Amino acid sequence: MDRRIAILGDIHANLTALRTILTDCEAQGVTDYICTGDIVGYNPWPHECLDLVRELKYNGAPCPVVMGNHDFYVSHKDGIDLDDFNPNAKIVIEWTRKQMSMDEIYYLKSIPFTVVKEGMTIVHSTLDKPEKFGYVFEVGDVIPHFSLQKTPVCFNGHTHFPGILERQLGGIYEISSKFLLEERDGIFDLLIGRKYLVNVGSVGQPRDGDPRASYVIYEPKLRRVKFRRLEYDIAEVQARIREVGLPEHLAERLATGN
Ligand code: ZN
Repeated sequence: MDRRIAILGDIHANLTALRTILTDCEAQGVTDYICTGDIVGYNPWPHECLDLVRELKYNGAPCPVVMGNHDFYVSHKDGIDLDDFNPNAKIVIEWTRKQMSMDEIYYLKSIPFTVVKEGMTIVHSTLDKPEKFGYVFEVGDVIPHFSLQKTPVCFNGHTHFPGILERQLGGIYEISSKFLLEERDGIFDLLIGRKYLVNVGSVGQPRDGDPRASYVIYEPKLRRVKFRRLEYDIAEVQARIREVGLPEHLAERLATGN
């Protein structure tokens, strides 16, 4: 069977959304997994999500994972001043730190910032200073990234906005996942001679106005990217957020996808 690689990230400790996506992966015939980082943060199931990600396979070995900013801040204390964060992010990072075992902290610390594998690059934000976790909000923000991307395709996350940036001779163009989902069943075929940065969106806290969990399936043989969006039981996550006492705003935003 041809390989189908699920690329998923910004899970943010949302077990309900992660389980929904993994069930969909099985139905879609996914053979391998890659994680674009931010396993923890914002939602109430950091252990369970870490356990599940650590069980995912790529070519029979543990799946590649790259470091997200929440994974980094939870596992590193030195030189990080949480007062610089917005108050909700600070609360949730401190709460998550308290939940983690020594083994889990060690695992999070050991995650690399970038992975290059079989013609693909994986990074949480961008390849220029991946440890700074810069945000891509417009095309101009990715010029330095593309000059460092050596493979035809790179997968990332971080902004929680799924979509594709295509670099060709004339410049850099954006292809929105909304357009692909509405008009092309989520499918986009990568062209030879161009470079692509594919943002896989967020499993656990979408922010593009669509509250459904997001991930991408990549079929290397066809050079085909497919965006997937899945409804999941948001009320279950909201109830657990309230039960453990995480900020109410984190529960509310899941319902709107903002
Ligand atoms: Zn994130």
